[in-house]
Amino acid sequence: MAQETIFSKIIRREIPADIIYQDDLVTAFRDISPQAPTHILIIPNKLIPTINDVSASDEQALGHLFVVAAKIAKQEGIDESGYRLIMNCNKDAGQEVFHIHMHLLGGKQLGKLVS
Ligand code: 5GP
Repeated sequence: MAQETIFSKIIRREIPADIIYQDDLVTAFRDISPQAPTHILIIPNKLIPTINDVSASDEQALGHLFVVAAKIAKQEGIDESGYRLIMNCNKDAGQEVFHIHMHLLGGKQLGKLVS
């Protein structure tokens, strides 16, 4: 059984977070330590620790992350200027919270992807 993270508490609204979107499948909230003017995390409500743990039954929720990302980018006014979606997996990518999440970053010229 995967261990819950702070993100499960955010989904259940047990701890404060700036939630900007929520439905049956996903929740989106502002990152507590933003790396760009817009930095939003979009996560499946189901706890999946890493991308290595996804299965075919998660396809609807994971596909929905992109639908919600595009909707939020438009709301934030960065759909035309551009934005980046990032998902980190495990240590070398710097994953810190083991509940998969899509970072939506934008609102400025972003640097090169790989460092
Ligand atoms: P990772 O490095 O795992 O891809 O990204 C984890 C992200 O979660 C980081 O950008 C970090 O700032 C954010 N984060 C960690 N804890 C919290 C929290 O309690 N609330 C919010 N809103 N963001 C968090």
